[in-house]
This record gives sequence, C-alpha cells and structure tokens, in this order.
Amino acid sequence: MKATFVKSATELRHCPQDRVKEVVFLGRSNAGKSSLINSLVQRKALAKVSGTPGKTRLLNFFLINDSYRFVDLPGYGYAARSGAEQEKWGRFIEEFLHERKNIAGLILVMDIRRKWSDDEAMLYELSLKLGLPGYLALTKSDKLSKTQQEKAVASLKKSCKYWAIGVMSSLKKTGIHDFHQSIYKDWKLSEKMDLSVDAQS
Ligand code: GDP
Repeated sequence: MKATFVKSATELRHCPQDRVKEVVFLGRSNAGKSSLINSLVQRKALAKVSGTPGKTRLLNFFLINDSYRFVDLPGYGYAARSGAEQEKWGRFIEEFLHERKNIAGLILVMDIRRKWSDDEAMLYELSLKLGLPGYLALTKSDKLSKTQQEKAVASLKKSCKYWAIGVMSSLKKTGIHDFHQSIYKDWKLSEKMDLSVDAQS
C-alpha cells in the first residue's frame, strides 16, 4: 500500500481543502493507534509510536494509494492532562467531526483489554448523530487468549451495536485484511486497495 505524509495541522482551517475522502483514526492515548496505522500501511514509522503518550496535539494527514487519506487525530484520556485540556480536546473533535465534509468514516482504536468508557460512548453517539459510519479496531489482541478475545468482543458489541468490530494486533500483523475488507466494502473507498498484507490469511 502506498502511503505518503501530506501535512500536519493544528486547526480545522489548516486541513487540506479538497474533496478527497478521509478515514479518521481516534483513540485513547497509548491504545496503539500509531502502531495500527503503521501496520495498515506496512511502514515502520509513518505515524509516530509515542515515546511520550499524549504529547502530540496535531492532526496528521496521509495520502493512501493516491486516492484517499488517513487522518490521525490526537489521542484522548491522557492522565497527565488537566480536565480543562481534556474538555478542549472534546470540543475540538466534535467540531472536526461536525465540520469536516471529507469524512468517510471513523476508526475508533481501543486496547482490547479496556472497558468501554464515557469517551468512547461520546464518540460513538456523536458518529451516530452525524450519520458517520464507524469501525471499532480492538488492538493488542496478542495480549489475550482467543477465548478472552471473544469475551471482550461480545461485551463491547453491546455498547457498540451499529459498528463492525475488528480484532487486531500490530505486533502479529493480524486483523488487517478484515479491516481493509470492511472499510473498503462499507465505505466505498478505492478499487486500488491492497489486501495482500495479512499474516492471518
Ligand atoms: P498510540 O498512543 O495510540 O499511538 O499508541 P502507540 O501505537 O504509540 O502504542 C502504545 C504502546 O503499545 C507502544 O509501546 C506499542 O509498542 C504498544 N503496542 C501497540 N500496538 C500493539 C499490539 O498490537 N500488540 C502489543 N503487544 N503492543 C502494542
């Protein structure tokens, strides 16, 4: 899969102004969002893997296969950040999701070992309200047994009824084929998607 860095932005008005479709990645700080983006595009360091979690406050745009973009949004829930800052993050994301016309769908990245929280609920509800499709990407599945994974999915499915859920591991490079299949099929992204990367299949 061809992936190139386009630009970083700190504000909505600095985002690319065109009609290219965008797949937006959101997740709690340290969920494994950067690792997942790197796995999806088969690159070691397209998106930074956080040494200092929660530090990046940028939106990063990557052009995929010359046809659509991945947008990496800043992580939420970083404990060392103040309540006021977390609130500011919430408002910013809400504005971004409201205003940005390019969005094809949301990828909510979650550590498979965590419980659904108010932050995930807020994003999920907002996406339903805005009519944006979503995909719950459960990362770090290599940390759980198959049975534990199934239990986690069953439990999260109750909170996240309308989205497809993918069990993934950036370490083992699993779940990537299903991810691509799902967003390609459901979100009508591009004919050129490369589905050949999964170690599972
Ligand atoms: P981000 O803050 O959401 O971008 O998370 P990162 O991608 O920086 O990952 C946070 C930490 O989790 C890093 O130490 C990663 O090496 C680790 N990590 C990410 N994905 C996986 C995974 O699939 N399996 C395992 N075992 N560790 C992972």
